Amino acid sequence: MDVRRQIEVSGIVQGVGFRPYVYRLATDRRLRGNIRNTPAGVTIEIQGPPETVQNFVEHLPAEAPPLARITSFVVREVACNADADFRIVHSRTGEAVRTLISPDVAICPDCLRELFDPADRRYHYPFINCTNCGPRFTIVRDIPYDRPSTSMAVFPMCPACQTEYEDPLNRRFHAQPNACWECGPRVELWDRSGRKISCRDPIAEAASGLHAGLVVAVKGLGGFHLAVDATNRAAVALLRERKRRVEKPFAIMVPDLAAAQDICEVDSAARVALESVQRPIVLLPKKSSCSIPEEVAPFNRYFGLFLPYTPLHYLLLREGGFKALVMTSGNLSEEPIAIDNHEAIRRLSGLVDYFLVHNREILLRCDDSVVRVADGITRQLRRSRGFVPVPVFLKNEQPSVLAVGGELKNTICLTKGSHAFLSQHIGDLENAESYSFFNEAIEHLKRILEIQATIIAYDLHPDYFSTRWALQQSGAQLVGVQHHHAHIASCMAENHLEGKVIGFALDGTGYGTDGLVWGGEVLIADYEDFERAAHFEYVPLPGGAAAIREPWRMAVSYLAHHFGRDFLKLDVPFVQGLEAHKTDLLLRMIEQKVNSPLTSSCGRLFDAAAALIGIRQQVNYEAQAAIELEMALSSSENNDGYPLDLRPDGDRWIIGTQPLFEAIVGDLRRDIAVGEISRRFHNGLVDVFVRLAGLLRDKSGLNRVCLSGGTFHNVYLSQHLESQLTDAGFEVFTHHEVPAGDGGLSLGQALVAAAAVKHSRS
Ligand SMILES: [Zn+2]
Ligand SMILES: [Zn+2]
Ligand SMILES: [Zn+2]
Repeated sequence: MDVRRQIEVSGIVQGVGFRPYVYRLATDRRLRGNIRNTPAGVTIEIQGPPETVQNFVEHLPAEAPPLARITSFVVREVACNADADFRIVHSRTGEAVRTLISPDVAICPDCLRELFDPADRRYHYPFINCTNCGPRFTIVRDIPYDRPSTSMAVFPMCPACQTEYEDPLNRRFHAQPNACWECGPRVELWDRSGRKISCRDPIAEAASGLHAGLVVAVKGLGGFHLAVDATNRAAVALLRERKRRVEKPFAIMVPDLAAAQDICEVDSAARVALESVQRPIVLLPKKSSCSIPEEVAPFNRYFGLFLPYTPLHYLLLREGGFKALVMTSGNLSEEPIAIDNHEAIRRLSGLVDYFLVHNREILLRCDDSVVRVADGITRQLRRSRGFVPVPVFLKNEQPSVLAVGGELKNTICLTKGSHAFLSQHIGDLENAESYSFFNEAIEHLKRILEIQATIIAYDLHPDYFSTRWALQQSGAQLVGVQHHHAHIASCMAENHLEGKVIGFALDGTGYGTDGLVWGGEVLIADYEDFERAAHFEYVPLPGGAAAIREPWRMAVSYLAHHFGRDFLKLDVPFVQGLEAHKTDLLLRMIEQKVNSPLTSSCGRLFDAAAALIGIRQQVNYEAQAAIELEMALSSSENNDGYPLDLRPDGDRWIIGTQPLFEAIVGDLRRDIAVGEISRRFHNGLVDVFVRLAGLLRDKSGLNRVCLSGGTFHNVYLSQHLESQLTDAGFEVFTHHEVPAGDGGLSLGQALVAAAAVKHSRS
């Protein structure tokens, strides 16, 4: 007696080879029925002998294609019918709308093999792909995800490609970007003014330019890269000069894992991250004996490495015979990455010698993602290409919220049901180009995700571009969310927490409810509300933004705050090296409270320490001083930390920094090594935070701690704080899916705003 089952599968199951996979699974077992796309995913009906049907149901989720992500799987009994075979039923128009769009995926092993197989019809074809790999998110114009709604619409398939596309047993069945030499996009080499250079093999020609020390703009998946030979010191210097990027590290692409291992320490977790289909840039410890010049990532113990992810990259690196190429975003300083050929000519022609372009349009820019692996755990520093638009899966259904993020490292977030869709990295909203990208990203995501937000969440900072944008919108309920509350809510959301937690929100800057510059905040929070349970003591931020660019100002501010003008008599190198005139001006600014808002920022405390111990007086990129302070850490086992005090102020605690600065000054006078001072500084913070968490637990009974904010990109601080809190019996929650820094802020904003609206309605 046959049985028939209906199986509803939701998640990322369209455009990833799921239907052919199910077709094979069914036909191999001689089962009958069908599979069709539905708004939520796919529905399968399967009929045959009970044991065989059972076997099918058990294998189905376990062996799903690599890019599929099943979020729900429901089986029910239905009546048998007269089906004679198993069929793929074609979707009616509009059916595919509510399924999840896949992110862009690195070339798969099968396509890579074909790419370098002289007998294959796609030998050396730079756009080879299949249902298991290739572009998705960056070529989607609209939904449903079908060839006519992508930038492949202008390339009609040749008969050979069409046959593959229609054959359920072929790896290219319904692979929307399917193409070949015959019918698909082509690569060209252009000179810096956009004139085509006629040559037999543009990729080989670009490679010889790179070998000659030139800068080549390479069109990739989510935008242009600027490439130079990473082993050529002069070429790296030339790129720095042209891109006006003084010291910020460049990412390097290496041809394979072995090349990565020549340059950096690669442990097993790092290897998994490097080889993952998302192909993020992975920060890895430099090997002392590597062939990459220091100029690629000065004053840094790490290189950002990644493996090729498009066939074009593989051709360029392997056929060009490169050990490593610098591949940095195709933009000028902090502007968004260029994506369009003519836009690239306009914006990048002063920076490069050649353009390696192609005629497959990139519809949505998407920068490379950046992760850091420590203790076997991968953490996001920039969540973008390869991860977007996979949602963060939430514990509960939410109303539709658009959260517009912060000012720096901006991302936006749209929620729908129990999914939170974070955008790709949009960047710093300080220039007109980024601001228009911000607008574009909102419109595009709303369209392809079909979300009409009823609530808009924004940061309380009145001058943020994102805030001003939000306040101009009508037709939705507007909810302002405090910056550090959003950080903690973001950590809670990805860890599916409910109720109150103790939250450490540590970062550089966030607008406080008292109008001051917060940044070293300990909150008792749930989604709805928060109480500021503790913070670093306030000190002046002399010159506002100038104090962020010039850490020496923060060192002077702290010293003057704790020692008065007497600090000028201290016999430590930092004080002796101060320019009398500039220092006097700064002190008068502080004393007269001119352009010196008060701050409790943790980032600025790191800056002050870095300047005081002689690591960095001025920064060339965000958080440089704090990063270099971490890089300076000695490898000793010493767990001693500098003292910080905790004093009550009403019903909150103030974290006092006077004993910390007294101790640093003492160690400087004793000529203690910089690495050791850095270590004691980090340990001191860990100690005081653990003590504080204990006091808050005693008072509130709460035992769960969330760690969020950009300061937690500091691996030493994160690891030591997490392990010591765990030893003290706390349940500790950190970020894995979204960045701890402002790149993850929009997720928290969305959840806080949704909770606020729910509360106001109840
Ligand atoms: Zn493939
Ligand atoms: Zn073709
Ligand atoms: Zn922040």
